[in-house]
Amino acid sequence: MLSLSVKEAIYAWYQKNGRHDLPWRQTTDAYKIYLSEIMLQQTQVKTVLERFYFPFLERFPTLQSVAEAPLDDVLKMWEGLGYYTRARNLHHTALTCNGILPKNPEELGGLKGIGKSTAHAICSFAYHQALPILDANVKRVLCRYFALNVKDEKVLWEKAWKLLHVKHPYEHNQAMMDIGALVCTPKNPNCLECPLNFTCKGKDTPENYPQSLKKAKVPIKRRFALVALKEGKLGLIQRKERLLHGLWGFVQVDECPENAEILGKVTHTYSHFKLELEVVKCDLHVKVDDYFTPEQIATLALSTVDKKILQLPAMMGNVTPATPK
Ligand code: SF4
Repeated sequence: MLSLSVKEAIYAWYQKNGRHDLPWRQTTDAYKIYLSEIMLQQTQVKTVLERFYFPFLERFPTLQSVAEAPLDDVLKMWEGLGYYTRARNLHHTALTCNGILPKNPEELGGLKGIGKSTAHAICSFAYHQALPILDANVKRVLCRYFALNVKDEKVLWEKAWKLLHVKHPYEHNQAMMDIGALVCTPKNPNCLECPLNFTCKGKDTPENYPQSLKKAKVPIKRRFALVALKEGKLGLIQRKERLLHGLWGFVQVDECPENAEILGKVTHTYSHFKLELEVVKCDLHVKVDDYFTPEQIATLALSTVDKKILQLPAMMGNVTPATPK
């Protein structure tokens, strides 16, 4: 059994050093906490805080308001944040639970896009339920503290339960996230300032835990984006494929059409591949869903790569799109 002192040390560290001013830590509204958890899954705190969390809440102050809105509106507010599956799952969840999140972790964890750790985070932060969390930062801290070479989910959950301060689950979980983000960082962890220091098994060689798997080289996809014009309007499609489902953008093809005029090149890196797009003006018939004026395009949800296309200097000679936000 772990001594209480490490749990108390984590608790005391949080009182003094925790990021108490984060807005999702100043509310007990489960929806706002859920939203922050989802946004923070793939995005840094600074970006979420400065550009997305508040505008989203202004447009959708409750989960009910998300349920009542069309998916297109939710995607529009998610525009630029990336990993759009998160927005689609949020909308799906809002509809599934009629705008009211369940309060128990099993039911929450059964909703689309809410994993076990997110379910525990919502219950622990909104209702102070004694449940541990296991996000990427917490996993790293646990691996180092218990000197675990491999990130085995089952073992990590056992360790997370073992370390949990059941009297103060809210503070404990927030502290573990902050320690992972601020102290036990991937590179150069600051062990001297760490509340787990005295009993940490990995502190002599923290970089060894967990052992890093060699990252596979990101494959490059080379494609062509077709700019189709009709009476000064741009032809776009609403994407059906999983990656950017529901977002509007330019038609993409693998082969360059004959006699196409090259307008420029854009690149974008996704989690599992890098996309290099040659942007070409295509006078041949291109099958699009509709043609839009620049003003209409500004109201659509577009992916980052399609926004990059709109901002190419050569596009200005064809249409003059309103500068996307
Ligand atoms: S003592 Fe060092 S290695 Fe151990 S948890 Fe703290 S920062 Fe990480």
